Amino acid sequence: MSNKNKTIHEFDFNLICEYFSNVERQGPGSPETTIKALSFIDNLTEESCIADIGCGTGGQTMILAQNAPGKITGMDLFPDFINIFNRNAKQLSLQNRVKGIVGSMTDALPFEKESLDLIWSEGAIYNIGYEKGLNEWKQYLKTGAYIAASEASWFTDDRPDEITDFWLSNYPEIDTIPNKVAQMQNAGYIPVATFIIPENCWTEHFFAPCQKAQVEFLKKYPGNQIVEDLIFNQRREAELYDKYKAFYGYVFYIGKKI
Ligand code: SAH
Repeated sequence: MSNKNKTIHEFDFNLICEYFSNVERQGPGSPETTIKALSFIDNLTEESCIADIGCGTGGQTMILAQNAPGKITGMDLFPDFINIFNRNAKQLSLQNRVKGIVGSMTDALPFEKESLDLIWSEGAIYNIGYEKGLNEWKQYLKTGAYIAASEASWFTDDRPDEITDFWLSNYPEIDTIPNKVAQMQNAGYIPVATFIIPENCWTEHFFAPCQKAQVEFLKKYPGNQIVEDLIFNQRREAELYDKYKAFYGYVFYIGKKI
């Protein structure tokens, strides 16, 4: 099908998917960080049911599967990501325990009430909103089950205007760590652990692979405005991180349902 037959929105959407399909992770994180977050969770057995919400192509899901027992369902909005996810699971011989499905986290989740032992979500809960996600998803967890989510957070009470404005226009729910912990407690979880994900989760594991993908993408779509805008925004995000990383980052929040 020629691009002429597609709406601009469709083309835009496909390009964004294609761009992010070329990188192993679609957000900041690392295998070490996933394993560290997992070390706070002590209830898993081979019978456990785990959901990874907003799993992307499954970079962190495969690490989870290699380091925890149980069945994992990865869910993401983008079918292309789920196709890559299921291909990766097969390549790693994990297809009997790890399955990717397409779905939206803003709808009712496709799990029975009180059926999950763990909900995982790296760099993705912002799509529903951290506080709403904690509240909505609790119904799917058994009592004593865990949630582990990484979320953009302020490290300080005061910040330069440039970075405050950037985040307030992109994700106004960004907040300080004590406020995020309080939201977790108010949603009915024991806040078990909180840690800031290290800088290399951004630089080495996210921005560096993205930079390579950007060069390839610009070569493949010369003069394409959507591609140029997408890459401009990506590069701006990396520059802002470099300039203001003392003031914000991603924080892992691990909670246990009471
Ligand atoms: N967890 C992955 C991906 C993080 S990027 C990683 O750490 O690499 C955020 C992910 O959320 C993307 O894969 C995006 O497709 C997905 N997403 C966005 N909106 C969503 C929604 N409404 N429901 C489910 N997934 C969604």
